[in-house]
Amino acid sequence: MSSATQEAATMNPTCEQCGGQCCRGLVIPAGNPTPEQVEWMECRGRVVDGQWYVDAPCLYIAEDGRCAIYATRPRVCREYAVGGEHCRATRRAYGREA
Ligand code: SF4
Ligand code: SF4
Repeated sequence: MSSATQEAATMNPTCEQCGGQCCRGLVIPAGNPTPEQVEWMECRGRVVDGQWYVDAPCLYIAEDGRCAIYATRPRVCREYAVGGEHCRATRRAYGREA
C-alpha cells in the first residue's frame, strides 16, 4: 500500500481494509489480573493502552469475512461506529493504523 493510500485508509477506515478485526476479538479492561490470568491472557491476545484484546473470532463471521447474521446482528454490533473511538483503538491494537 502506498503512503498516500495508507494515509487515506487511516483517515477513513473501511472494514474491508481492516479485515473485520472488531469481529475477531474481545476487548476486556485489564484491571488488576493475577499472574495466572496474565499468563492465560498472553496466550490469547495482547494488552494495549490498558485493555486486553483477546483473540476470539465471532461464530457468525462468514467465509467471505462478512457478518452472516447482518440483518439480525446484536445491538452492540449495530451501534459499533466505523471510525469511532473503539474502532480506532481496535485498529491500533492490531496494527491496522498508527
Ligand atoms: S475495527 Fe473498525 S474498520 Fe475494523 S472492522 Fe471493525 S468497524 Fe470496521
Ligand atoms: S454478529 Fe456479526 S457484526 Fe457482530 S461480531 Fe459477529 S460477525 Fe461481527
